[in-house]
Parts: sequence; C-alpha cells; structure tokens
Amino acid sequence: PISITDPIEEHRICVCVRKRPLNKQEVLKKECDVITVPSKCILLVHEPKQKVDLTKYLETQAFRFDFAFDELASNEMVYRFTARPLVQTIFEGGKATCFAYGQTGSGKTHTMGGDFSGRAQNASKGIYAFASQDVFLLVNQPRYRSQDLEVYVTFFEIYNGKVFDLLNKKAKLRVLEDGKQQVQVVGLQERQVSCAEDVIRMIEMGSACRTSGQTFANASSSRSHACFQIILRRRGKMLGKFSLVDLAGNERGADTSSADRQTRMEGAEINKSLLALKECIRALGQNKSHTPFRESKLTQVLRDSFIGTNSRTCMIAMISPGMSSCEYTLNTLRYADRVK
Ligand code: ADP
Ligand code: MG
Repeated sequence: PISITDPIEEHRICVCVRKRPLNKQEVLKKECDVITVPSKCILLVHEPKQKVDLTKYLETQAFRFDFAFDELASNEMVYRFTARPLVQTIFEGGKATCFAYGQTGSGKTHTMGGDFSGRAQNASKGIYAFASQDVFLLVNQPRYRSQDLEVYVTFFEIYNGKVFDLLNKKAKLRVLEDGKQQVQVVGLQERQVSCAEDVIRMIEMGSACRTSGQTFANASSSRSHACFQIILRRRGKMLGKFSLVDLAGNERGADTSSADRQTRMEGAEINKSLLALKECIRALGQNKSHTPFRESKLTQVLRDSFIGTNSRTCMIAMISPGMSSCEYTLNTLRYADRVK
C-alpha cells in the first residue's frame, strides 16, 4: 500500500526504464529474452552479434538509470518510484510531467492508462489512476482541506501536429500563444472531478475515444501522443498541473522513408517532437534559459512544464524484452540516457 509519508526524491529529472514480460505469442515463437536487470538501477542488453562463421555470440551493454524495473514490477511499484514523488509538487504551485517513451507494444499505455479495455471490473490501474488517487488523498488531508482546492482533468491527443480533445468527441482544437508567451489550447474541456472514481470514468471515456473509429486499433494510437492532465485550482486560479503523457511509438520516427506520403509526414512529425522533447527536458535539467519548446506541438502545449523553478519531470523508457526488438530497445535506451 502506498503511504503518502514516503520520502520525496529531490531531483528535478528522473529517468527510469521498465522491461515488460515476454507475451504469449513471443513465448510460442520461442523468442529469446535479451534483457536482464541485475540491480535496482542497472539494465543489461545482451545483443546477439553474428560472427563470420555464422555462429552467434552475445555482446552485453550496460545502462544505468535512476530505477530499472524488471518484468515482475507491478504498475503500482513503477508508479511509486516514478510519478508518485511528483504529486506533492503540484500542491506547491509547481508543474509535474511524466512521460512514457518507447516502441509500440513495449507497455506505454499499460503503464500509464492501465488496461481499461472492455468492462472495467477487472481492469488494472495505471499511473493516471494512481496519481489521481494520491491527489485526492492529499486534497482531503486537513492541511489542504481548508484551502478549497478543486481538481480538474483534461485528456487530449496530439496527432500529426494537431490537438484533439479525448473528453469531447475528438474535437479538433487550436493552440494559441499570446504576447506573454502563454500557450492555450482553445476550448479544451476541463472536467471537474470530486473523487478518484470520477477520474477513472474520465480515463475510460478518453481511452475509448482514443481508439474509436480506427480500422486498426493500434495504428493511429501508436502515432499519437496522449496527454492526461490533473489540474489543481484554488478559487478559480491554477495552483499546479500534472501532465502524464503516453508518447507515440518511437519506431514511428523511422517511417520517414515510407512509400506512403502520409506515413512519411507523420513519421517526420513524431521524430521532430521526440527530439524537441529531449532537448526541452535537458534544458530543464540544466537550468538553461533557452527552452526550444516551439519546435513541436507537443513541447509547445507543455511549455509551462519545462520552465519555472518548480517544474519536475520523470521519464519512463519502456522496452520489449525480445531479441527481435533489440535494435529498437537500444535506440530507446540511448534516448533515455541522453535525457539526463
Ligand atoms: P504500447 O502502448 O507501448 O504500444 P501496450 O501498453 O499497449 O504498448 O502493451 C502491449 C501489450 O503488452 C498489451 O497487451 C499490454 O497489456 C501488455 N503489457 C505491457 N506491459 C506489460 C506488463 N508490464 N505486464 C504485463 N503485460 C504488459
Ligand atoms: Mg499505446
């Protein structure tokens, strides 16, 4: 059980990695697991290399992160060491962000949204739900109860540089930047919620909206970033904001040589946004005065989360354990390594 009195980590940027288990199909195909997690922050990739005589040998590469989660870690465990230490930030007037980065099928949506497919009875919770639970736990504590705090959520998708409201039938929204560099998503629905169960209904609604109307269920969701936000207001004024982002599959950034023009454009857009994101997080970590947030819609919309003295970020790099994913896994780990 999560206790709200656990120590709160002090660093501004936390980078973690999570390995998912081999799934049924991979086991049936006798896919080899090439990832081991020997300690709580070390992850090893045993990459197969072909020798001249066609026998294979393994070359092991080690990566160090703030935390490395193996296939036995639960969503609750991952939450506890990643997003949870950031919850307090939004009660202190700050901005928190948590990103799930990785290849399609590596577990981003499972970790962030949980599995809310079909009827919710046996659904497992993800970071969206755990974070909301803890926000309400704090809102109802005596020291905050007197402050008349209100909680709102938004849920939107960024697809090919355009913003769509997942809590309002995928309405297409405009993004405006005013003279004071404030970025606004015009018309984005902010739904007031009064308990964790309310939030779960919103997560279900938005997640269903995200995959509705798609011929191939995972096709467009793997090409879009989904952003779920928990907003704290005090007498109408925003106190803090927690943005939880399920990023587009990073392998889509390689679609730039596809024969299909639309796919090529989407790939280029994804590439641009993931590069911009890396630079913005690095700028935040190094206290740089210049943050290149205008480089993509994703970073533009999250602008206020990358600046200010009370902004904190966590990135969770998700990886598939199979040998056939090795190349993408290494790409993911190198990206995550560069964020810090
Ligand atoms: P992504 O969003 O990165 O494309 P998903 O979250 O949809 O990937 O995960 C792909 C599949 O693997 C889903 O069926 C999901 O339930 C399963 N999965 C992902 N991570 C885990 C995990 N840690 N434990 C068990 N199943 C997982
Ligand atoms: Mg997904």
